Amino acid sequence: MRIRSYFGLWLGRATKFALRISGRSGTSLPGLVAGKLAPHLLQDLMTQLTDCVMVTGTNGKTTTTAILYAFLSEDTKWLTNRGGANLHQGLLATMLGASTLSGKLLVKKAVLEVDEATLPKITAFFHPTAILVTNVLRDQLDRYGEVDQTLRLLSEGTSYPGTALVTNGDDPLAMSLGIHRSELTYYYGFTHSPEVTTTRADVRDGAFCLLCGQELVYDYFIYGQVGSYHCPNGHFQRPVPDFGGQYDGITGQLLVEEFKSRPNPVFAIQSPVRGIFNQYNLLAAISVARVLGISPSKIQKGIVNYEAPTGRFQVFQGTPSRILALVKNPTGANSVLRAIEEDENDKVVCFIINDDDADGRDVSWLWDINIEEFFPRSVCKSWICAGTRSLDMALRLAYAGVDRNSIKVVEKLSQLVDATSVNVHTVYLLSTYTALYPLNEILREGVKNG
Ligand SMILES: [Zn+2]
Repeated sequence: MRIRSYFGLWLGRATKFALRISGRSGTSLPGLVAGKLAPHLLQDLMTQLTDCVMVTGTNGKTTTTAILYAFLSEDTKWLTNRGGANLHQGLLATMLGASTLSGKLLVKKAVLEVDEATLPKITAFFHPTAILVTNVLRDQLDRYGEVDQTLRLLSEGTSYPGTALVTNGDDPLAMSLGIHRSELTYYYGFTHSPEVTTTRADVRDGAFCLLCGQELVYDYFIYGQVGSYHCPNGHFQRPVPDFGGQYDGITGQLLVEEFKSRPNPVFAIQSPVRGIFNQYNLLAAISVARVLGISPSKIQKGIVNYEAPTGRFQVFQGTPSRILALVKNPTGANSVLRAIEEDENDKVVCFIINDDDADGRDVSWLWDINIEEFFPRSVCKSWICAGTRSLDMALRLAYAGVDRNSIKVVEKLSQLVDATSVNVHTVYLLSTYTALYPLNEILREGVKNG
């Protein structure tokens, strides 16, 4: 290890210690200060890993990483950056937590969520065992710009031999990352969706052939641009998946079939997550686990260890029970609404919309959420809007045809527990990023005292 890296390591560890005694652990700050002092420290620590999986893509990284961690850590110790600290400093903070003062990494396996823009910076010095790309959907409008840019970064981060690429074959953009790779490329996809539709007006930014620009022809859409597609000029089409999924909404089981293996194993997993979007995350995690050689029985055993990360359909038990879900872009929000639609009990739906930098300053994406399709099927008794842009959201709901008398605006987040203590089965709280952690605290406290 470089001399400078030792100093960085010690400073990072000291910062971590100081934070812990002041009761503020769990931030990326140690990684930030250590990385500033020692730019190569992450490289020096990461290159000691013997096994490493990186999970990237625009949506679903945190849930997928948590599911994969549940499988992998069933009988071996793996490091992970729980909570979505997926930039350089977050990865470094995770590594610092498992290293000695002499710079030795004590745990040699890691499953890491990595931001799309950070990925090529990491793979410039370290090639992981496998990379999983969940999807390439339209992200917050003002974060990195267009999907083209994201695709370019992901392509840069995955275009070299020796690393397995596992990617979503039903998403033409994520799939395109595998086209020019000759080996170790695996696709997963749904062979049958419980709710296949050809009419949904979701965001479909990727629905054009990347080679000739023609609009792709779809047999069906599952969400966003994800579905069964082909270029009318024959340039590319949805591949036969290595790992095909079928989700049974009644039993809650995901059936996985390995089409390209002989004999082709078929096995069922009891899904711990809700909504088709999350079944994709589950199938993605299973695919990576299988590529790493984890047996179906070990996957079935490991899944019970899964804990929903903050804001990923995180359940707060109580009367009524409350479920917290992060929303950050229209595609993600639509997939959350579709998961809520599956719940036929009466409910209250809350939108907590902030517009800080981390949320995205531009809230025009609220107009791309499919409220019009959701609200007639939602069995929703009332709607509550909160956050700095609560009025924008209330206007959005009213414009979609929601009865104004059933829309309530709440000024403070702390009032949400009282406002949702009503006689319904479930309260769903859909929150942008900066309100998520305060809400997590408020709900935990509120439900305990209530
Ligand atoms: Zn084409």
